[in-house]
Amino acid sequence: MTENMQLEIFRYLPDKAGEPTMQTYEIPFHKDWVVLDAMNYIKNEIDGTLSYRWSCQMGVCGSCGIMINGVPKLSCATFLKDYFPNKIQIEPLTGFPVERDLIIEMDDFMEKLSEVKPYIIREENQEKTLDEGEHIQTPAELAHFKQYSMCINCMLCYAACPIYALDSTFIGPAAIALAQRYNLDSRDQGENIRQETISSHEGIWECTFVGECSAVCPKDVDPAAAIQRAKVSSTISWFKDVLIPWGKKK
Ligand code: SF4
Repeated sequence: MTENMQLEIFRYLPDKAGEPTMQTYEIPFHKDWVVLDAMNYIKNEIDGTLSYRWSCQMGVCGSCGIMINGVPKLSCATFLKDYFPNKIQIEPLTGFPVERDLIIEMDDFMEKLSEVKPYIIREENQEKTLDEGEHIQTPAELAHFKQYSMCINCMLCYAACPIYALDSTFIGPAAIALAQRYNLDSRDQGENIRQETISSHEGIWECTFVGECSAVCPKDVDPAAAIQRAKVSSTISWFKDVLIPWGKKK
């Protein structure tokens, strides 16, 4: 006999004026189902009005982040069996405006990613033409930044960050990890340009190193470590500016 379990899901339908509510659904329990399977069951079999984001179903696209019992998680990588037989509470990611049900607005996050200039920057006359070939990189140089390139932009780290919850101007964990991804790339020469953003009032110095961003990250990017490394680089850069004012920064 199939056993059932309950999902209590945040509902907000802007076209039907009113406050958000929590709605409980009864679903069949399957030990190989993830939360996304259960939500798809609800959508297909019980209530087609339920709205949420998902795509790859394999922890790569980063689009299915939600709060599960108050913890930011990917719905495609969170198994029902880890909660059964208890009820699961599902809400949109904390700290973001809600568009509808579990769908949050991503604009602020996307702007923060672009603010750190997430691409290789070369100094003037340092670009290579196609005929000159590519900038060669050794495996050791790749290993230097590879961890920070594993980010899937799922925003779980922002939902876990107590600083972002208090002050959404904070540029935040993933954007700083992304800046580090390029700052540590041997082909890049844009650290000083990115420094203006990540060392600003809204940047790395806002972080109090709670570490929840790294605890919830599904890809072990460790944005908390990226922020602390950026603080060290920024401090060294500041001392160089003060002690070597004629500009011998390397
Ligand atoms: S750093 Fe981790 S938690 Fe944050 S957006 Fe990237 S993958 Fe998601």
